[in-house]
Amino acid sequence: MSTRPLSTLVPMWQAEVRIDLDAIRDNVATLRALTPAEVMAVVKADGYGHGMLPAARAAVAGGATWLGVCTLDEALELRRGGIRVPVLAWLVAPGLPLERGVAADVDLNAAGTEQLAEVVAAARRAGRSARVHLKLDTGLSRGGAPLAEWPHLLEAAGKAQADGEVEVVGVWSHFACADVPGHESIDRQLASFAEGLALAERYAITPRYRHIANSAALLTRPDTHYDLVRAGITIYGLSPLATEHASRLRPAMSARARVSLTKRVPAGQGVGYGLTYMTPRESTLALVPLGYGDGVPRHASNVGPVRLGGRNRTVAGRVSMDQIVVDCGDDPVAPGDVATLFGPGDDGAPTADDWAAAVGTINYEIVTRFGSSRVPRVYDGSAGVPAADVTPAPGDGEAQ
Ligand SMILES: *Cc1c(COP(=O)(O)O)cnc(C)c1O
Repeated sequence: MSTRPLSTLVPMWQAEVRIDLDAIRDNVATLRALTPAEVMAVVKADGYGHGMLPAARAAVAGGATWLGVCTLDEALELRRGGIRVPVLAWLVAPGLPLERGVAADVDLNAAGTEQLAEVVAAARRAGRSARVHLKLDTGLSRGGAPLAEWPHLLEAAGKAQADGEVEVVGVWSHFACADVPGHESIDRQLASFAEGLALAERYAITPRYRHIANSAALLTRPDTHYDLVRAGITIYGLSPLATEHASRLRPAMSARARVSLTKRVPAGQGVGYGLTYMTPRESTLALVPLGYGDGVPRHASNVGPVRLGGRNRTVAGRVSMDQIVVDCGDDPVAPGDVATLFGPGDDGAPTADDWAAAVGTINYEIVTRFGSSRVPRVYDGSAGVPAADVTPAPGDGEAQ
């Protein structure tokens, strides 16, 4: 039984994903200090679950001079949100209304002559030249023109540029194994990129921006930075590297929920669907209202870490769609208490890295999953936000 006043038992929120915008700004500033190159903040997939527009604004406040997204829609949403810095959208599919991107000053990717032809057609429809980045496949075998097709793309781009239909702003590529420092493919891809750039020069294509580095290459390989680095996971304060923790970065996302119910149960009580957890002794179970419908991976059943009542515990039984259960033993946990699934790791609470390790995935997937719309996303800090829009700090809202 809790003896606290009613106001804390009727909380403002039952679950929330908190985003520290100042952390995003400061992380970008930290990354900028690591390189003379410009920083493109990658805010695809709703800013890795952090909210694309707020993340973008905070990143720009921290010194990002470019933004990177996957889809044309994402790029247009940035423009609608008033973002003025250059934006590159890299996943161009056939039939898209690319002229809208051209009209909105969105940089488009061309990974082959067919894609370049689409961009040229879009430029004609828009009645102005398109800004384009030519992508070379240096070994990832995903987007990008293979080296054998590269001369054809360069020739077509050179012609389109001479005709005033496109401006080749960038030549770029993407690493396969930059998160494994020392992997032999990194040098191979870098050599292939240099070869591609040399070939481009022979076709008189000398773009202002040559870029291949992602977060991992930004942290570990200064020789890959060229003119621009594309930083995603690190702007959110997480490390792409299994080995080296990026200690100067601060994780921006926290996922928390208030215990909705506690109950005393005897030893040997099965918990959750399938009864995959048995209480080892009489104990208090706490219901935490976050489930796989909110972003908690179902693979966290019986392994996901949760901080509750001043201790780190483990999800008891299966993750349901809407809730998880935590076995609190004899600790005095009560409804309204805050359970932290992950956050910046203050006071020893779990992090997105801990969740990734427990579940067998990467921190990228953990935070991106929590971009789910059911959980209210609350913003802390003021980076990039007009003063009137700043949300109250934790606890401020309780008396309202
Ligand atoms: C997502 C993405 C990035 C960012 O990668 P991080 O590892 O998060 O820094 C960079 N470039 C491309 C092409 C991407 O798709």
